[in-house]
Amino acid sequence: MSEIIVAANWKMNKTVTESNDLVKEILKEVPVIDSVTCIVFPPFLSLPSVANLIKGSSIKLGAQNMHSAQKGAFTGEVSGLMLQDYCSYVLLGHSERRVLFGETDEFVNEKLAGAIEFGLRPIVCVGEQSSDRARGLTENVIRSQIKNSLKDIEGINDIIVAYEPVWAIGTGTAASPEDAEEVNKFIRDELALMFGSEKVLQTPILYGGSVTEDNIAEFLAKPNVNGALIGGASLSSEGFTQILQNACNLT
Ligand code: PEP
Repeated sequence: MSEIIVAANWKMNKTVTESNDLVKEILKEVPVIDSVTCIVFPPFLSLPSVANLIKGSSIKLGAQNMHSAQKGAFTGEVSGLMLQDYCSYVLLGHSERRVLFGETDEFVNEKLAGAIEFGLRPIVCVGEQSSDRARGLTENVIRSQIKNSLKDIEGINDIIVAYEPVWAIGTGTAASPEDAEEVNKFIRDELALMFGSEKVLQTPILYGGSVTEDNIAEFLAKPNVNGALIGGASLSSEGFTQILQNACNLT
């Protein structure tokens, strides 16, 4: 069985001071997190101080994005080489990057290769728009995102996938646990075609989209939902620690 992952995407929220305060609160409320992998994704500027605060704890640290190149004339970008000093995870292809910043599967694929090169464990995000779902295109969209984002990648080891239906992100309307299970199972089957079924049994496939302390247990009860990527509900220590505790109680 795959590990269970609870990941907090803070997006463009929290100053450095606020980030430090939030992580201190989480550490105070949940000092021992042994049965799930907890990863926080603060804004870039907060990575050094949060890295310092979580030293010796079981909280892991990730970046919300990276550039595929190691260095160069890419104004405003941050590379895997720079990130590896602070964190061990990276979010790739979040729908906000795809929709607001025009990131394609091809670019996500280049970033994925870069993440692997610099030893960052990637969470590759995929998900359909509501119009895709309404037209019955969910599987086509997900298949194409998976195939192209993971193209020519040698091994699936250490890669995490997050199914995040775009219509469920930040809307308060989560997918049903049954729908999340159906798509996550589809993702595992697609990965099996690319990497072999044995290899993908251990691949964590998360669900993200309006997860809260009230619904996390229903998602984690599904066999192919191996964790959650959480935005809004991860911004308060009360909400996030409750999510963590609920997840830990289930495992
Ligand atoms: C996200 O941004 O990855 C996300 C899942 O956000 P929210 O939990 O707010 O829907």
